[in-house]
Amino acid sequence: MQREQITGTDTHQRRTHTCGALRPEHVGQTVILKGWVDTRRDLGGLIFIDLRDRYGLTQIVFSPQDGLDAYKLADSLRSEYVVSVEGRVQERSDETINPKLPTGQVEVRVDDLVVLNTADVLPFAVSAHEEKRRLASEDLRLKYRYLDLRRPEVQQRFLTRHALYQTVHRYFDAHDFVEIETPTLMKSTPEGARDYLVPSRVHPGHFYALPQSPQTYKQILMVSGLDRYVQIVKCFRDEDLRADRQPEFTQIDVEISFATEDLVYELMEGLMAAIWKDIKGGDLETPFPRMRYDEALRRFGSDKPDMRFGLELQDLSEVFEGSGFRVFDSTLAEGGKIMALVVPGMGDQGRGYMDRLDKNTVRKQIGAGGLIYFKLPADGSEAVSSVKEHVLPRATVDRAVEALGAGAGDLVLILAGATPTVYEQMGALRLHMAGELNLIPEGADGPWKFLWVTEFPLLEWDEKAQRFFAMHHPFTSPRPEDLDSMFDNPRETRARAYDLVLNGSEIGGGSIRIHNPTVQHQMFRLLGIDEEEAQERFGFLLDAFRYGAPPHGGIALGLDRIVMLLTGADSLRDVIAFPKTQSAQEPMSNSPAPVDGHQLEDLHIQVIDIEEEED
Ligand code: ASP
Repeated sequence: MQREQITGTDTHQRRTHTCGALRPEHVGQTVILKGWVDTRRDLGGLIFIDLRDRYGLTQIVFSPQDGLDAYKLADSLRSEYVVSVEGRVQERSDETINPKLPTGQVEVRVDDLVVLNTADVLPFAVSAHEEKRRLASEDLRLKYRYLDLRRPEVQQRFLTRHALYQTVHRYFDAHDFVEIETPTLMKSTPEGARDYLVPSRVHPGHFYALPQSPQTYKQILMVSGLDRYVQIVKCFRDEDLRADRQPEFTQIDVEISFATEDLVYELMEGLMAAIWKDIKGGDLETPFPRMRYDEALRRFGSDKPDMRFGLELQDLSEVFEGSGFRVFDSTLAEGGKIMALVVPGMGDQGRGYMDRLDKNTVRKQIGAGGLIYFKLPADGSEAVSSVKEHVLPRATVDRAVEALGAGAGDLVLILAGATPTVYEQMGALRLHMAGELNLIPEGADGPWKFLWVTEFPLLEWDEKAQRFFAMHHPFTSPRPEDLDSMFDNPRETRARAYDLVLNGSEIGGGSIRIHNPTVQHQMFRLLGIDEEEAQERFGFLLDAFRYGAPPHGGIALGLDRIVMLLTGADSLRDVIAFPKTQSAQEPMSNSPAPVDGHQLEDLHIQVIDIEEEED
């Protein structure tokens, strides 16, 4: 069919049903359906088409007896043509019933067909029947994102995302929150990432920053007495992209006056329960368990432990005290730790496996010095140590095995080093081994293990910059019991900060804030921000705090990540309609892109040649 032959004029009435609607009760009715040609089959004198729209697939049948013109025209239909059909709903014969399709008991015998548009040959198949078999590369799918978004599997994720928005709005409304929009063109906020900047035309040399979060505004709304704020908001962070980050992402941003940690936990647990009820149809167990940051690090080697399995780290430092083994002795002398992981069912792994684990996983991916291990064969025979007996005596190995409670068939993995690095390395090894043991379920069927990680350190020392940074942000309150010792003991100071973790992913984080100007000034001092800089950057917030700021706190939840977990998607890109790639580009529209010279002139901006800059 030539494009010119298509008038595209829809001479039919409005559609009477969607492609997901027809059931046996409609048999005998005349209906009008509109949609895309998903697949076409010619069977001796009959043409079958699966017609597709967002709601589903319906089989439509063309026969010369029902409508000769329509039958002839149907011969020219190709994948993804857009059509309107008018016809009669008919029961399918027993052998053609398709129990997998909600519409699978009926078909529509077509009297009249209008071709509304043709489609070029597709760069990849979008048919509901083919998507699983031949998934095109992600690059190609992102370039033709509109076609990718036609795939039912992809659409389903956006329907879940939509359902989530509705639950969020309902939930917060029912709990007296006010939805307020904060500016997108704003002054830089202190979330610690690089800002995306927008030049001001009317103020040459001045720039807005896109929000890394609406942190300062939401706190000011509390000073204003709005009491409870919520916003589903886009945030922007110009970071080097890791696999699961996007430069623009969506947060469910929350701030609450007179908040305590318990109030925040309770409200967020209620929200999660509502989301899971609406989307998964099940009841979550609340309250969620809580764990202090230092405990999470010691037991699981992570501030976002995956609680779907055990495999806890164990500390062998005491057992190896004075062992005479140089690696252990020097680690302990320098205040480090010797950490162990007992992996069940792996005590008989061969040399090749252990070498690969050491070189490719521990050294390369985890970045640790080297793996020490004891294999405990399943037949109960003697432990096999990776360290020669004259270096690490058997008695010491046996003592370690006993202290760990390890037994026949277990593999004991050991790393030694400075904390917290050795904890984190062990945490990464724990996840790797859990993968090896198939302990990490894929998909979106749960189990759902939520956890509050609490009492994060207030500050983080940056070796390069030789100064402290706020681990969360500079408005996070120290714990009252740490206030007095904050300056003497900054590293030990704990914050009233918490993260919400689900199945090993951080899905939210927040804190109780500083509302007292004196404490806020002290915090800036600790961070090496002097009065002048504090005033310059956050003067508006400090000023606001002078006029009766209520105690307040809040949290921001990562909406994209929650949808990703709910839908079992592999990446954030799968749940964002037009996502950026790892190199921060949007391949369909090709952004970012150069702009017209006039635009730059208007903005008083000159672009320096990169090569020139490097000279
Ligand atoms: N603004 C913080 C963030 O984006 C969340 C919060 O403290 O409420 O991580």
